[in-house]
Amino acid sequence: MTILPILVLPDPRLRLISEPVATVTDEIRTLVADMFETMYDAPGIGLAAIQVGVAKRVLVVDVGSREEGRDPLTVINPEIVWASDDAFRVHQEGCLSIPEYYEEVERPARIRLRYMDLEGETREIEADGLLATCLQHEIDHLNGVLFIDHLSRLKRERVNRKFVKAARAVGRGGEA
Ligand code: ZN
Repeated sequence: MTILPILVLPDPRLRLISEPVATVTDEIRTLVADMFETMYDAPGIGLAAIQVGVAKRVLVVDVGSREEGRDPLTVINPEIVWASDDAFRVHQEGCLSIPEYYEEVERPARIRLRYMDLEGETREIEADGLLATCLQHEIDHLNGVLFIDHLSRLKRERVNRKFVKAARAVGRGGEA
């Protein structure tokens, strides 16, 4: 397994719309293994394939607690088939592609998710709590949406400017 470099704002690839996966090939299985390795190393609780530069509708999450151990979930071609429209959850979100920036985002508290698992089987689960929040955050990535898009324009522009400036600084000081 390989730890892959994670794309950081304002990398334009983070705005791509990822393509569905037709069949689970060895290439996809390797990608998923590398994504888990990369996510655990970061460390993070969710990672979408586009964050490592692969525009495929694949994401991994693990919201397992330290006490209960790891709880890895691989989600391919996710589709939210239902979301609670009368119950919302606010969570202080962060993103491995927007390091060291955290802000509260409100999303539906419960969702029903249809997806393909690593065996190519279609599955449906209901999620609430942190898992529901995390899945919605990662699914946004597959559509080129970042959690800062859920914030006010003022906050979004402020964080965008900060990361554009940081990228320019690296460009000037480092290699081409
Ligand atoms: Zn993210």
